[in-house]
Parts: sequence; C-alpha cells; structure tokens
Amino acid sequence: MPLQQAWRLASLLRVMLAPSAFAPRSRAPTTFLRASSSSSSSRGGGGGAFKANGCRADAGGGARARPKHARDAARDVPIGTAWRVYDVYVPLHLDAGKDSHAATRAVRDAVGKILGLKAALELDDAGVRVYRKTCDARADPPGFSYVVDVDDDAIVRAKGTVRPIRARAKKVERIREEDERTVEYGLNAVDAANAYVRAPTRGVREDVTRDSRSDGCVVVIGLGPAGLFAALALAEAGIKVTVVERGQPVETRGKDIGALFARRQLNGESNLCYGEGGAGTWSDGKLTTRIGRNGDRVRSVFRALVRFGAPESILVDGKPHLGTDRLVRILRTARHYLESIGVEFLFGEKATRVNRDSVTGAAASVTLASGDVVRCASVVLAAGHSSRQLMEALHEDGVKLSYQSFAAGFRIEHPQGLLDTIQYGSKYAGYVDNGKGPLPVADYRVANTVEDGVAAGRACYSFCMCPGGQIVPTSTVEGELCINGMSFSKRASKWANSGLVSAISEADAAPFAEVGYEPLCGVSFQRHIEREAAIMGGGSLVVPVQTAEDFLLERVSKRETLPSSSYRLGVTPAPLHELYPPAITAAIRESLARFDKQLPGFAGSQALIHAPEARTSSPVRIDRDKETMCSVSMDGLYPTGEGAGYAGGIVSAAVDGLAAADAILRACGITPHHAFAVDGA
Ligand SMILES: Cc1cc2nc3c(=O)[nH]c(=O)nc-3n(C[C@H](O)[C@H](O)[C@H](O)COP(=O)(O)OP(=O)(O)OC[C@H]3O[C@@H](n4cnc5c(N)ncnc54)[C@H](O)[C@@H]3O)c2cc1C
Repeated sequence: MPLQQAWRLASLLRVMLAPSAFAPRSRAPTTFLRASSSSSSSRGGGGGAFKANGCRADAGGGARARPKHARDAARDVPIGTAWRVYDVYVPLHLDAGKDSHAATRAVRDAVGKILGLKAALELDDAGVRVYRKTCDARADPPGFSYVVDVDDDAIVRAKGTVRPIRARAKKVERIREEDERTVEYGLNAVDAANAYVRAPTRGVREDVTRDSRSDGCVVVIGLGPAGLFAALALAEAGIKVTVVERGQPVETRGKDIGALFARRQLNGESNLCYGEGGAGTWSDGKLTTRIGRNGDRVRSVFRALVRFGAPESILVDGKPHLGTDRLVRILRTARHYLESIGVEFLFGEKATRVNRDSVTGAAASVTLASGDVVRCASVVLAAGHSSRQLMEALHEDGVKLSYQSFAAGFRIEHPQGLLDTIQYGSKYAGYVDNGKGPLPVADYRVANTVEDGVAAGRACYSFCMCPGGQIVPTSTVEGELCINGMSFSKRASKWANSGLVSAISEADAAPFAEVGYEPLCGVSFQRHIEREAAIMGGGSLVVPVQTAEDFLLERVSKRETLPSSSYRLGVTPAPLHELYPPAITAAIRESLARFDKQLPGFAGSQALIHAPEARTSSPVRIDRDKETMCSVSMDGLYPTGEGAGYAGGIVSAAVDGLAAADAILRACGITPHHAFAVDGA
C-alpha cells in the first residue's frame, strides 16, 4: 500500500476508533430528564414546599446542567458518532418522491460522492438517515435536496474508504451530542389515548362540579397551540391545570363547522377560530416557522406532535404539513393524554375577566361568562387574536396593552395547475398529479417593498400560503366577514390560495380608534374592514371578489367571467380596490404587478382576489417582562401566544406556550426539567 494511502487509512481509523465513535446510537431521540409521569418527584410533588402563590415547589427536581460535549483536543472538534452531510441533491428521476423519507440507494450514492467514498463500495442503508428533505424546484431537472446523517460505523463498513472525512462548514459537519438533546413531552400519549374512550359532550363536562373549579393552580385560557403546550408542560411538571376554552372539543366543533359550510349557520362560540386546537385546527396545518426548525423547544413541539399521532415525516420534511384531517386526530389524542395526567377541561366556557388579588394586585381568579369564578395562582392567557372582548376587559382593568403592527389585505387564489406549471415548467408540472405524484404541489412566497409614490416604504407579501387548499370563513360574529385558508393532508384541491397583505401601521389604524381604547385601534380597524367586506358581499357570508387583472384596472369584474372559487359559501363581484385606505391598496396593487413579472399569470384573469384577510396576527401586544414573561402590569398573568403578540403560527405559538410554562415553573421555585433559556419575550 502506498505510504500516503496507509497514513490516510491509519488517520481515518484513529478518528473512527475515538472512544465515542462506536457507542451504541439509538435512533430514538434522547429523553432528557423525563421521569415517568406517574412518579411523584417528576411532578414536583414529594416533599416540595408550597410557595406563597400556591404552586408546589420541587424539592429535588430541577434541571440537569447540559453537559459540555467532549472535545478532541488535538483537532478541536466535538466528538460525536456521526457526520451530517448537507446539500445532497437527488434528481426527480432517481428519487422515490416527496412521500419517501428513506435513505434510498440514490441518496446514499449522492452522500458517498460528497464524502469521497468510492462509488462502487457505497454506504449500506444501516447507519444512514435522512435528517431533512426539501423539494428543490429551481434545479433542472427538479429534484430533492437532502441533509443526511451518516454514522461512523457505516463509513467504516463502506470498505475502500481511504481518506479521512474532513469537516466543512454547512457541507459536512460532525454531529454534536447536544444537537440530539431535546425535551420529550407526552411520552405516554399513545397508551393514554388508547385507554380513553369517552368523548366529551357539548358544553361543560357534567362531572366538573362548581367546587372543583376553584382549586386550579394554573388556569390556561384558550386551547390553541399556545394553551395546549403550556398545559402539557405544566401538567407534566406536576402542576394542577384547568383549561378554560370558549369553544368546543373537536368532535362537536367539527359538527358546528359542518353546519357553517352546509347551512351558513355561524356559531359565535364554535367556529374556525374558536374551539379545541384554536385557529390552527381547521387550517392548512403548515408547520413551517420563521423561528427556525432547530431550536430546542421547536424540536420538542414536533416530537410531541409525533407522540400525539403526527407522521414522523414532519421531523424530516423541509416544509412539514399536517392538514386539517390529521390535526383533528392529533388534538383528540393530546386531550385524552392531558386528561389522563390530571388536566381539567372546561369547554364551552368563555373567560370574561382576569381578577386581581385585592391585596397584592396579582392575578387571582378568572371569571367565566357563566358567572363562575375559577381561583388560581397564575393565568396563562392564550386566547388568540380574535378574543376582542377579553382584550377590552383587560384594558379596562389596567393591564398594559400596546398597538402591534399586523398585516391585512386579501386572499388571492389561483388554479393549482397554473402554479405547478410556473414552478416546475410544463415538462414537470404533471408530476404533481393533484398531490398524488412525486413532486409536491407548488407553493410560493413573494414579497415587495414599494419604492415611491403614495405607498413608498410599504411592504406587501404573501402570507400563509395554502397549496391544494380552500378559502374558508373565519368570521366569529355575524356581520363581520373574515376569511383564511385551509387544506387537507393530501392537498388535492384544484386551487391554491394565499394571503396578499400589507403592513398596517399604528398611523393607519389610529383614525379608527374608539375613545379610551386607543391601544386597541388595530382591532377597530379590523372590525371596520370586516364590516365593509360583509356589506360588499351582500351578507350570509358571501365573499366579495375581483380578478387580479380587474383589481389592477380598478374595475368590478363581470360575474359571467369570474374564475371558479374554492370558497363554498358563494362569491360576488365587488370593487375591492375601494375596501382599504388608498395607500394600502396602492401597496398591494404595485406589488401585485411586480409579482406578476416574477410569476407570470400571478395577477392575470385566472387569479381571483377574495376579501378580506384582516386577521393575519394580533393587532395588540400585552406587554410582558422579558425575563419573567409576566404581564408588566399584573403579576401572575402570563400573556402567551399569538393573541398576546408573541407568536405567529402554530409552531411559534406552541413554543411560546412551552416558554410560558417554564416561566411559571421557575416562579413557583420549580426548575424546569430542562435547561432552556427564557427566550419567549
Ligand atoms: C384558517 C386558518 C388557517 C391557518 N393556517 C395556519 C397554518 O397552516 N400554519 C400556521 O402555522 N398557522 C396557521 N394559522 C394561524 C394559527 O392558527 C395561529 O397562529 C395559532 O393557532 C395561534 O395559536 P394561539 O394558541 O396563540 O391562539 P389560537 O389558536 O387562536 O387559540 C386561542 C384559543 O383561545 C380560545 N379563546 C378565545 N377567547 C377566549 C376566552 N375569552 N375564553 C376562553 N377561551 C377563549 C379560542 O377559542 C381558541 O381556541 C391559521 C389560522 C387560521 C384561522
């Protein structure tokens, strides 16, 4: 063997045989300090002392400091047991398609090439895992881009490897031990779900007595993603939790939504915004998030969703998506699990006030619309962005609220086939096949900042795109029209819709403020737009529409030539260019023209604009302390999630719920079982 080759082999073996290199490596995620849920110590019980706020302090529990991973002093790289290989491209004709997340031979061959392994002696499939898979629509031919983890022993088994693997940032990196650490919630979720058969009936559970409503240690208002994950983390830490949700459990909520679609019956308390799972249940179920996929809490949320029944592919997919059908099942399982660990649910109960302790001024109880009062030590306020009355009540009670910039505009809908053709070209668009083919249905994200004119400096962008989806009514009150988008897991509809929105500044909203409620001027703005849109639609939840082409030309579209719409309660032509103040309309108009240049046909006669998309996020922020996550004006009140102004989307709301739970645990003297920093503010 030539000297150089022998040296390389010896060097490689040295790296491979480093102490941790052959440590058994489980594919199961590391469980970090999660004791069995029946263990009293894991629940902060045992000999813990009660703190003044009524929560039980954990005597022995607490965070295990995250160990510093060992380092190989000579090379100064972390010692791990595997390599992470980025930018592994597999063209469409060699790939198993969007629904496969396996390390197929094509994937392994591509990885082997990047690692410099001899092609003829490729990696076997044991020890090679897909970490992330994303469609690369820009490549020609389109294909899939992978991030792949390769165990050291798999490399050793690929005999003939003669060169040591060299780390290159964002190309080939050593996996660090801490990369694999995360907190697991809901470990026993499946067992609990199987053991539990009773479905709650409409309204408050009959077995919940008045008395039991007065001993909740933490009241969580709202069972959207933020409330759900706050309740989960608190209950698993042993805190008594009562969830107050104005809407219904998914079983009943589904029927109410069915009545809305079939008979235009809007139930003001059980609809697309209110009810178990919050606004995200009858949604597209996109799990993409701007806060990044790799944060500890984000990983915890994804893994908990898998425990509750989400497919494991969401851990790997570059654009994970659940769809309404899956979300409903996941939420039911999560509820059964939470009930099995002692969480009390009060469905059909609207919180109307958060009351202060007469001495300390801290949150001490929650008044319900039924007149009942639930006493508590802390309140997680996770009521979402449509809880307008509760926001007003908080403002009246001296809780500090601030205006928060949000976005409003329209939903624009195109034939999915048009977008597939724009994205993949006519040669490959057929590979989408209504969501059944190897390529994913096409999506897009567009953004523009207007440079001059009346809209100078204003941004316009697409928001919450729903490929293969439908436009749905998200109104919560008769006479206020509001829409959004949802889809099922297959994304098989023939339409694609997306928000087409522009930022609404405080100056835009201020003229709509009600005297004494100035911080809520964004809510007043939303109400104004939603009422105007309802009038344009003519009532009965009919949505006013205009083709993009006519919107640009400022003319009302002709009914006979309107393209079809996915919206099931009917559409009618209207002058949507008159709905918003001129500067906002100008920002959308100019941006639309620009988007049409980027995606030809985007603003054409097949593009149908529906109005209005006015609830993209919360127009209010409930000010909270960055460290404690507590309201700056009411101790013990934890404003959380989208409605409080700290999240936008399912995942970020869930993450904020976990952060609020950790903050409460800390305030109770219980060190959270993991070492997350308080980063929710
Ligand atoms: C149709 C639609 C589609 C969407 N699609 C996506 C998507 O694909 N991906 C994504 O990331 N995001 C999506 N979103 C946004 C996402 O749903 C929200 O960002 C997310 O649900 C916010 O979570 P949250 O827990 O903060 O609030 P919410 O989900 O709004 O939950 C708040 C809960 O509080 C309850 N509540 C309100 N007031 C009271 C009260 N006074 N008393 C008791 N309970 C109360 C409500 O009934 C509700 O259940 C969509 C939203 C809609 C409406």
